[in-house]
Order: sequence, then structure tokens, then C-alpha cells
Amino acid sequence: MTARRISIVPHTHWDREWYKSYQEFRLNLVDLVDALLPLLERDASYAHFMLDGQMAVVDDYLEVRPENEERLRGLAAAGRLSMGPWYILLDEFLASGETIVRDLQMGIVRGAAFGGVMEVGYLPDMFGHIAQMPQILRQAGFAHTVVWRGVPSSVTKNAFVWESPDGSAVRAEYLPVGYGNGSALPGDAKALVRRTQDNVAEIEEFLLGDLLCMNGSDHLMPQPHLGRVVAEANDLQEDFVFEVTSLSRYLARTTTDGLTRVQGELRSGFRSNMLMGVTSNRVDVKRRGAQAERELERRAEPLSTLFLPADAYPERLLDLAWREIVRNAAHDSICACSVDDVVDAVLHRYAEARDIAAGLAERAVKAFTRSLATAGPSVLNPARRARGGVVELVVPADGPAPDNVQVLSERHGLPGAMVLDANTVRTVLGMLQGPKISDDAWVHEVRIEDTDEGIDITLDIGTEEKPDVPVAAVKQDVYTRLGARPDAVVRVAMEQPSTRRILARVAEVPGYGWRAFEAAALGHPVAVTEDDHAVVLANGRVRVEVDRVAGTFSLEGVPGFGRLVDGGDLGDSYNYSPPGQDSFVDTPDAVVVRVDERGPVRARVRVTATYTWPDHVDGSSQSRVGAHQVDVDTDLEIRADDSVVRVTTSFVNPSGDHRLRVHLPLPRPATESHAESAFAVVSRGLTAEGRPDEYGLPTAPAHRFVTAGRLTVAHQGVTEYELIDVEQGAARTLALTVVRATGMLSRLGMAYRPFPAGPLTPVEGLQMRGSPVRFAYALALDCDDPYRLADDVLLPLEVVASLGGGTRPAAGSELTVDGAEVSAVHRVSGVLEVRVFNPTAQPTRVTFPGRDGWLVDLRGCPLEPFEGSFELRAFGIATARLRDG
Ligand SMILES: [Zn+2]
Repeated sequence: MTARRISIVPHTHWDREWYKSYQEFRLNLVDLVDALLPLLERDASYAHFMLDGQMAVVDDYLEVRPENEERLRGLAAAGRLSMGPWYILLDEFLASGETIVRDLQMGIVRGAAFGGVMEVGYLPDMFGHIAQMPQILRQAGFAHTVVWRGVPSSVTKNAFVWESPDGSAVRAEYLPVGYGNGSALPGDAKALVRRTQDNVAEIEEFLLGDLLCMNGSDHLMPQPHLGRVVAEANDLQEDFVFEVTSLSRYLARTTTDGLTRVQGELRSGFRSNMLMGVTSNRVDVKRRGAQAERELERRAEPLSTLFLPADAYPERLLDLAWREIVRNAAHDSICACSVDDVVDAVLHRYAEARDIAAGLAERAVKAFTRSLATAGPSVLNPARRARGGVVELVVPADGPAPDNVQVLSERHGLPGAMVLDANTVRTVLGMLQGPKISDDAWVHEVRIEDTDEGIDITLDIGTEEKPDVPVAAVKQDVYTRLGARPDAVVRVAMEQPSTRRILARVAEVPGYGWRAFEAAALGHPVAVTEDDHAVVLANGRVRVEVDRVAGTFSLEGVPGFGRLVDGGDLGDSYNYSPPGQDSFVDTPDAVVVRVDERGPVRARVRVTATYTWPDHVDGSSQSRVGAHQVDVDTDLEIRADDSVVRVTTSFVNPSGDHRLRVHLPLPRPATESHAESAFAVVSRGLTAEGRPDEYGLPTAPAHRFVTAGRLTVAHQGVTEYELIDVEQGAARTLALTVVRATGMLSRLGMAYRPFPAGPLTPVEGLQMRGSPVRFAYALALDCDDPYRLADDVLLPLEVVASLGGGTRPAAGSELTVDGAEVSAVHRVSGVLEVRVFNPTAQPTRVTFPGRDGWLVDLRGCPLEPFEGSFELRAFGIATARLRDG
């Protein structure tokens, strides 16, 4: 019998923030690296240490110990320390595809400063894995990954070939008992041999050969005796050959021959906890995350790329915004399975990223506006597809409004003149910080005249921003004159045209382009009719009938949409778990329906349903007790020439220990769902693999949309959904989780997960009591293009008001991309880069009319040139660098 090799990889798993804050854990990180460096330097037998596959720990350490950068670099260069490849060990389902790519790229770039990253796409603790991860890893040059959670029952060995839907594959090393199977190894050689016998026995059925012994776990320190005890154990016996090594060296000896192939996402709880409930805890975090990603990916980067000169591209600020988003993507951060201080920090980082992104987007839009040749409103389309839509804008109110627009409000010119004393004028001027009076009222010109009676000030007000209005100089001028004539009477006249705020439909605006505003004729105007039983919104393309008693609505004759079902949740931040004596509230005590807008461009109805929800779950009786009355407002909206129904449900959450879901009936029973995941639409069945330690609850995350049984829902923020009401093998209802409130980070003895998944720490913020909850989604039947629907709902057309004087024509486009979805439009070292993906099962031709460039991999290495177009395989991802047009 040949000896079995035991490959010991010393490491630590560093959750950057979790049941303690980032700063608390970092104190321990500094201790760890402080102890690790001399250990590696003095003890050659302590051959290697892996810094958890994420560069963030290096930066976090060096911020405190900048003097040790050279030592880290020296150890990395000598192969004693491996770093990266990730910047952070993220959650794959809750972050966008682009965030995943940027995380990996940031890690690789940062790692280059230390001689390069570990060539293993290490994914030790993620709560399941997305379908496209093998392709992402391959495109970044990785042939290996290491995984634990999510691996299905079909995998019976400690490695498998994991394939993306496009056919890209990596070798996946499977850790059957996790990343800490070799943590806390004994210092005595005989004990080490016995422990290893146990370790081997525990997973013998999985072992293809060597045992990978992961010597470390959450926040564990290195074990200085390791080199010595390994040498002693090797002298002592011949069954095992122990070595202290790196993951890369262990994997270099492996093969993919004869391995099981697994395609697609890994979301099984068959052998380890999936913790699928992290999708629905702290829904505010998921929505803020999606909002920040969208501002950055879909507005700040593309608009800055397309409408600013290349040398004005705000790369550094964009990098800062990305850094916040990538840090938040850490699996314990975005998953919000953390204490409140951590969740507060996560929300703050998202706000910082969003503010940088929104501010940069606004500047790019302003640059675009100033570049237009003609004055007046223009419509800007930040998305790839050419599309029309409904816009809201302010126009001069000259004459009666045409019938193809809907007037929201009118403002008649302000009263001609006011007579003020000098002190009041000083106060008023003090408040005027710039030319902006409101979003649609800007100072265009100020005229000042001294008369015998006093001082006359005339302000011309316009609806659009005019550059270079010298407000500060004018204020100074007035102060000077008032100083000279302190008793003067000041007459202020505002010359402001009457305006009206309108809604109008505009015809198609080119993708990444613009068109001067012109209200289109309405082919299918919206109308509202009502009787004692119902309020009907219809436009000839969609018909919504609101039930005045139930508070629900029918869509194309199918009743019961929008039913809110509130049940108990005695789970924790990781898992939903019903209490022993659960009860449900799904009928309102009272319903009031109010029509807010009646068309012809947009109709809006507000349904206010009053419910009585229990207060919390009583631990001993396992039943829901107490009562709160809560008003839940649901706004329903349809638009002219549009078959989409937009819904916003909002309320202030009064209760704890509960899960509120909205039930949407499926017009056709469904055996599977199709949901957006990173760079793909994934199909999921009605069940999920579980085990006695974790119930296989088939809830799943949808990134921006989910489709089942003719119904497509586009929603704001990653949302948890489940196909329910299964009869004869097909689901009748799609349930979306609106809020899931529990008060525990982790819990013991839950019905759906008996053993803890983290510390048993009460966390009040997880209850979201008193928090405003606002859940916006849109419904469409037989939608053949959910990506279009998501963009229409989440990335609307924008209106700008131009004064003219530039050179840009009245309509045009800065970039045309056809044949694929776009994930990124940005600049890399000044070069225009577009990342596209093909979410369909057919190959596509991606065209960039009139442009040429190079396809590159995710490390930026050129792959092949193209002119005008290139072929993209089914489910493929491609990154194109374009010559500026
Ligand atoms: Zn972790």
C-alpha cells in the first residue's frame, strides 16, 4: 500500500466584518499578520500561508502596518505567502455580474504589486455559486476553483468539472466538510496521525487520492508548531506523507480525468448549509446595493464614457465608488447576517458609492446638455436599446395643453413685483446660493437699476440651467448699493413664464443616444373607469381591475394579483423557519381605493389596505401574539401604449418575527422559473435539495427579473421568490418576499435548520421594526424580452433642458451595440471598453457598427481583433476594447 499524501494548507478565513465590526476584527487581523511574518521568516518548515484568497486583508493590514509591505512582498515572491485572487470573498448571488468581475480584477491588479495572485479561483464560504462563475474564472485565466457550499448530491468525489452554460469549465476541488477540516491540528505527532486517520475516515468515500487538509478556519491564528509536528509525524509512520504546502501546489498534481461534470449554478443544501434566507433579510440592504450598482454601472460609467472627453473620464472617483461596492459584496456584508454596526456600515458605503456615481452621472448629463446645438428639452436614453417611453418634464404653458399630453400641474408666473426693505432683501439674497431656485426654475439674468425711489431688481427665471450666471457678483453689487442707500426701498420683479409639468410619450430614442423632445401621438391612451365594485385602468393593451373589497387586482382577467400574505418567522438572518403554531393574515380589515391620475398618458390608483398583523412570535407557545394595525399602500400604474403594470407597495413595518410576501397568480401553471443571475437567465425547478440539518426550501434570488407561467416580474433590488401552490406537479403562484423580519443573527433548534450558522446573537435591526418598506415591481404577461422590461422600469429615459449653443445635433447616438446585452461601458486607461453577454441558448453576432477593436480577456490581455462585429457563443461573455469613434 502506498502512503497517502496529506497536503496541509495553512490559512485563515477572514470574514472582514460579521458578528463583530470591521474595526474589531481588524485588530485581530493585525495580530495575526504580525505573528505570521516572523514565523514564515524564521521557520522554513512552516512553508506556506494562504491569506484567504482576498487582497482586502492585505490592504486592511498595511493601513495599520505600512512598514511591513516589503516583508509581505518578499514572502509572496518566495512563494511562502499566497494572496488574492479576489479583492473580497463576495456573495455571488446578491452582487451584480459586473461587481463580481470588478472584484476579481481589483484583486488581480492589487496582487500584481506583490508579484501576482494565487492562481486559484478560491470560493470557500459563498452561500452557493452562480452558473457563470466557471466562465468568469476562465476568462480571468483560472483553471481551478475550490468550493464547499451548494455542491449537489450528484458530486460524490472531492473534485468535479464545473461548467458554465457556455461550456467554459474549471476543475472544482470540493471540500466535503468545509475549509476548516484541518484547523487546530495537534502539536503532538502521534495525535496528528490519529487526527488524520479520523479526517480521512470522515471523507474517505470522497477521496480521489491525497487529502487536502485546510489548516485554518474563521479568524484563526497560524499554528507555529506545524512544521515541527509534520516532520515528526513523517518520521513516526509510513501511512501518511505530510507536507505543508500551498493550494496551487496541491492542485498542480490533480487532473480532471474521469471527473463528474456539473453544469450551472450550485444551490444544493444536500451536504452543507445553503443559507438561502440571506436573500430576504434586511431587504433595505439588497435594494440599496442594487441602486448603487445601477447608478455606477448603468449611468455614471456609460454617461461619463460617452459624453465626456476621454481625458476628463473620472477614473479615480469611479474606482473609489467601486471599492465601496466591492467591499460591501463580502459574503457577510451584503448578506446582512451581521450585527447592526456592520449593516449600518454597509448602508453607509452604498450611500457613498451611490452619491459618487449619481454626482458623476449628473456632471456627464450636464456636459451632454451643454453640447446640444438647439435650445429646449431633449430626451436621453442611457440604455442599449432604442426605445420610447413616458417622460415627465416642464414646458412653457402657452395656450391650452394638447390632448396627447397629461398635465400634472401648472405654475403661473410669479406676482409681478414685491416691495421689500433692505433687511428683507439681505435675508432673501443670503438664501440664494446659486442660480438654482428649484429643479425647474433657474435664474437666467439679473438686472439692477437705481431709481429716485429706490433700487429695482429684475430676475429673469427660466426652466433650464443657464451657465455662468454671476449670482455671487450680483449679490455683492446689491449689498454695495444697499450699503450706500440703507433706507432705499427695493422693488423685486420676477419675470417667469407660466409653466406646466406634463407627462408625454416620446417616440423611439436611439440606444446610448438622444432626441429633441416631441410629444408622440397616443395610439393607446389610458382611461380609468369605476363603479361600486371595482376601479378599472385600461389602455387597449392591458386591463387592470382593482377589487374595492379585497384590495387585489386582476390582470387580463386573472384575479388575485397583489395579495399580501403575512406569516410568522421564527428563523434567523440565514434561514426562514416557520413557528410551530404559525398563522397567516391575508385579508385586510378595510380597503380604500383612490384614483390619483386618470390618463391619457398615465393612470395611477392607490389601494390602501388596513391589516392587523401580530406583533411577534411567542417563544414558548411558538405562536404569533399581539396585534398592530398597519396601512399598506399599493400604487398601481399603467401608461399609454404600454402593456406593463407598475406596482409599488409601501408601509412602515410594525411587527417582528414575520415574513410578508406578495402572491402573484400564474396565468399558466409552471414547472420552472427563469430568473436573472449574473450574465445569465437561470432556470430553476420547484424543489431544492436539502437534508435534515437544513430544509430544502426552494426560495431563490432573482437579480432584476423572474419569469414563470406567462408572467414576468421586474423588481428593484435582488428579490427572493418561490413558486408555490403546487398542484399536479405545477405551481399556480409566484410569491415574492416583501420583508422578512427576525431578531437573531443565528438561532438554535429552528424547524428548518436545527444547528446554528453563526453566533446566537440578538440583532434588533433584523426585525426592521419602524422601518419604511417600499417594494417596487412591474408585471408583464408574455414578455419576450425581460432585459428590456428591466431597463424600462429601472433605467428610465432622462429629460434635459438645453439652452442650445453647442454643436451636437437634435438626435443621435454615441454608441450602437446590437445582438447582446451590455454589462459595462467604461474606460480602462482611457480606452473605451464594452462588456457584453449573450443570455440566450443560440449564438449571436454582436455588432458595433463602424467600430473596430480587440476582444480582451478579464485581465485585459488581447485575444483577437474584430471589425464591426464578432460572433458570441450561446451564454458567452465578451469584453471588447473599441477605437473611439
Ligand atoms: Zn465566511
